Amino acid sequence: MDCLFCKIVAGEIPSEKIFENDKVFGFKDISPMAPIHVLFVHKEHTANISELSETQSGQLQDVFKGITQWAQEQNLDEGGFRIVTNQGVDAGQTVFHTHFHVLAGKKLGRFG
Ligand code: 5GP
Ligand code: ZN
Repeated sequence: MDCLFCKIVAGEIPSEKIFENDKVFGFKDISPMAPIHVLFVHKEHTANISELSETQSGQLQDVFKGITQWAQEQNLDEGGFRIVTNQGVDAGQTVFHTHFHVLAGKKLGRFG
């Protein structure tokens, strides 16, 4: 499958890894929108959050567990962090392997 994030997970395309366990992979976004901007993906490919929810809902728990574990290790609990996922054209999804942006490191503006 020609998927950028599957290739990153497999190590075929280099990335700055920040988290990994048997199910979940986290790496720095190449174009950060905040002092801390990382992406978390499940190692099993789904295209978007709808597909994941329909077919692989256990993945959500895996990914969120990974994110919260990493955030705790980074001491982000107190200052806080934001988790964002984009689905489809209107939301600006550009990579069609479900991923969760985690943004932190400054007081984040409102979105909309
Ligand atoms: P989306 O717009 O689909 O929600 O998010 C895709 C994200 O992937 C963007 O924030 C973009 O900067 C990031 N990205 C795109 N290509 C690469 C890459 O090759 N490596 C890394 N680390 N991030 C990428
Ligand atoms: Zn993929």
